[in-house]
Amino acid sequence: MKNDNYIVWFRQDLRLSDNPALFHAAEKGNIVPLFILDTNDAIGAASKWWLNKSLESLSQSLLKQGVHLILRCGNPVDVLDEICSKHNISGIYWNRLYDEYSIKRDAKIKSRFSAQLDCQSFNASLLFEPWEIKNKSGEHYKVFTSYWNSLKASITNFTILPTPKIQESPIEIVSDDLSSWNLHPHKPDWSVGFSEWSVGESDAQKRLQDFLDCRLSQYSIGRDVPSSNSTSKLSPHLHFGEISPSQIWSASMQVSQLTNSDNAWKFLSEIAWREFAYYSLYHFPYIEHKPLRPQFEKMEWRYDDKTFDTWKKGLTGYPIVDAGMRELWHTGWMHNRVRMIVGSFLVKDLLISWQDGAKWFFDTLLDADKASNSASWQWVAGCGIDSSPYFRIFNPTLQSQKFDPEGSYIKKWIPELKNLPSLYIHEPHKAPKHILQNCGIVMGITYPNPIIDHGLARNRALSALKKISG
Ligand SMILES: Cc1cc2nc3c(=O)[nH]c(=O)nc-3n(C[C@H](O)[C@H](O)[C@H](O)COP(=O)(O)OP(=O)(O)OC[C@H]3O[C@@H](n4cnc5c(N)ncnc54)[C@H](O)[C@@H]3O)c2cc1C
Repeated sequence: MKNDNYIVWFRQDLRLSDNPALFHAAEKGNIVPLFILDTNDAIGAASKWWLNKSLESLSQSLLKQGVHLILRCGNPVDVLDEICSKHNISGIYWNRLYDEYSIKRDAKIKSRFSAQLDCQSFNASLLFEPWEIKNKSGEHYKVFTSYWNSLKASITNFTILPTPKIQESPIEIVSDDLSSWNLHPHKPDWSVGFSEWSVGESDAQKRLQDFLDCRLSQYSIGRDVPSSNSTSKLSPHLHFGEISPSQIWSASMQVSQLTNSDNAWKFLSEIAWREFAYYSLYHFPYIEHKPLRPQFEKMEWRYDDKTFDTWKKGLTGYPIVDAGMRELWHTGWMHNRVRMIVGSFLVKDLLISWQDGAKWFFDTLLDADKASNSASWQWVAGCGIDSSPYFRIFNPTLQSQKFDPEGSYIKKWIPELKNLPSLYIHEPHKAPKHILQNCGIVMGITYPNPIIDHGLARNRALSALKKISG
């Protein structure tokens, strides 16, 4: 029996394997596994649903080793202060986060406790720390391709840490009851459609394996086709740290040695986009709220709740946009291509700010992530790092014809259009009256007319851009 008691403060690293904080603390002493629901930090409604299940799963995995997860709600400084002052604690170990709020909070905690306790933090959620990858002049990259080349060149072999053998600390610490946090929605329970997700570390590993076995070989072509289910859907698992990018990288490399490696490299480049989002957030902490290109602060966005609501509810009259917004509401996830289409539609066709869109996504996505969400919205809006230029405006109808030619994705999420022939599925308002009638569609009643003409919206967006470009 070891004498030292180490708090392992779990955050976005809800797994036992390849968890450096847990692994190194277990080498040193008995473990007090702790999760604090930080009342000062924002978390979206859909994320709460996932967190609830992920904590249940982590708690079960720990119990299999005879260890109890301690749950607390409040300000982490106060919670840690209370536990450390009442009990014989030797150290606090955690895995790092990279957003401004967490960095400041963790620095405060380190300076508060490190004089008396062994306080250590580790990297568990990125392939490389954001300060590690630099260009030849020692500066950080601003273009993804150069960053990606440098990341690939820096990779040797990752050490994947095994699940350690954990010894529970004998000290007794009061824990909250998870159900008292009310993370699962009720009255109404809008999460019924989330039931397709299996949450937790072992399900993350199963999903990765299933993706590598069955879908990786189609990834490069299939990843842009929303009806094809070709992507990994690992994003919420990655966000909550149920799986590490190093585990994904290693497993993908093993497979790529056996099969066509182009698909594996394409997939890994998406993992690198995630890294780049964290890199951007670390080097430009304000990207959660402010555009990276300052002239965009002068953009004359429209503040129109009615139009914004129409977008949120998937009632814009543009089927591909509406299908995406309904998929999001129903499942807590949306296909990447469709995220780009609905994002562009909001910011450019409706001239509603990317910050408003990002807030809605943050509340409704199961993978809502401060880094990936902010960086992606800035990319869509044309105001971010290495982003798509604002003047490149997606035509939602052409996007729909290209990536959902038969309208299978649209028909899945907009059942009122399911009988419409593919020829009209992208623009139902242009279908002849008798066809609409045969399909039971009354435009403006059973399905809305387009809320805006794309051509006019495009010109309005370009004029707005001209104003800020001066
Ligand atoms: C407007 C907008 C908002 C977004 N918000 C989020 C968000 O809050 N959280 C989030 O995880 N992703 C976000 N993304 C990125 C991307 O859409 C999702 O990561 C992806 O759709 C998740 O599906 P998947 O796991 O099947 O991806 P796969 O194609 O299987 O990719 C594997 C992993 O790579 C990462 N990844 C893939 N594409 C991107 C990307 N463009 N940027 C960053 N990481 C990427 C994800 O972690 C993903 O799980 C957003 C994209 C857009 C356009």
